[in-house]
Amino acid sequence: MNLKILPLLVLLTVSLSLFASGCTGPGDSQVNKSTGQEVAGKGEPIVVAVSVLPQAEFVEKVGGDKVKTVVVIPPGADPHTYEPSPREMGKVSEARMYVTVGIGMPFEEIWIDRFESTNSGTLIVNSSEEIKLRELDAHNHHEGEGLEEHEAGPGEHENNSKNNAHKELDSHIWTSPANAKIMVEDIYEGLAKIDPENKEYYAQNRDAYLKELDALDVRIREKLEGKKERIFMVYHPSWGYFAADYNLNMISVEIEGKEPSAQNLAKLVDLAKEKHVKVIFVQPQFSPRSAQAVAEEIGGEVVAVDPLAKNYIPNMDKVSDIFARNLV
Ligand SMILES: [Zn+2]
Repeated sequence: MNLKILPLLVLLTVSLSLFASGCTGPGDSQVNKSTGQEVAGKGEPIVVAVSVLPQAEFVEKVGGDKVKTVVVIPPGADPHTYEPSPREMGKVSEARMYVTVGIGMPFEEIWIDRFESTNSGTLIVNSSEEIKLRELDAHNHHEGEGLEEHEAGPGEHENNSKNNAHKELDSHIWTSPANAKIMVEDIYEGLAKIDPENKEYYAQNRDAYLKELDALDVRIREKLEGKKERIFMVYHPSWGYFAADYNLNMISVEIEGKEPSAQNLAKLVDLAKEKHVKVIFVQPQFSPRSAQAVAEEIGGEVVAVDPLAKNYIPNMDKVSDIFARNLV
């Protein structure tokens, strides 16, 4: 076990046992121990924890004024390496429902095991469960361009990716509006389960938001229509599901979560020149240093697009405008 996490676990154990012994704070909902049914606290919003900000938006769109969200990953932090404080996870343990990303977030696995073993009564909704996950490297390195590409050995294309660093699954599921719809549906089902009294209210909110997501999808398709070189370069490969949905090709500067070597950087520069890439997208959670290096070499620029912004639809409109402007 990661020793840095141990003190957090001890603290959570304490807070969970307090929780289990019925010491609920004001506004907390309770679990009926005999039936296992959760009883909604009257008038108080239901606390729903999520890992990343876009999930908070989805929960609030479906839950309206009946929910309150707690977000584990604060704005600006890198979700892949973030370690929540005991205080943050204490808040999560008090939530009635925790919506996880379900992939590529190491802290989630530790805490979910903890919740399950202590029977905290928190309903876990795994956002990845019904999403067709893509492999991070399959499209990340442009085919045939030789960015440290390896010959696939026998059995390497099997779905079991656990022991193969080259087959890491892409965790940025929410960057596709189609995936967002699946996530919204799962959130609805979770809320309907813990608060069946308001099922109809949640269903109406869900339907309204699904319509907005459909309209977003249409707008993005229109913006990207007629683009010929459908290739873009990005520091951290957050836009893989977006790229797959809209028939774009993402090349990431970061290679398997690491800064590229000088040799790979040189290859990226050649590729960018060949494909007339003029912009390298960066996001606030990562240093733009090597993206800037590539941009300087190709006489291009670095442009920020945030995959983790909370206001999902306006942000996706903004991001797709930026993509459309920078694709030729
Ligand atoms: Zn990421």
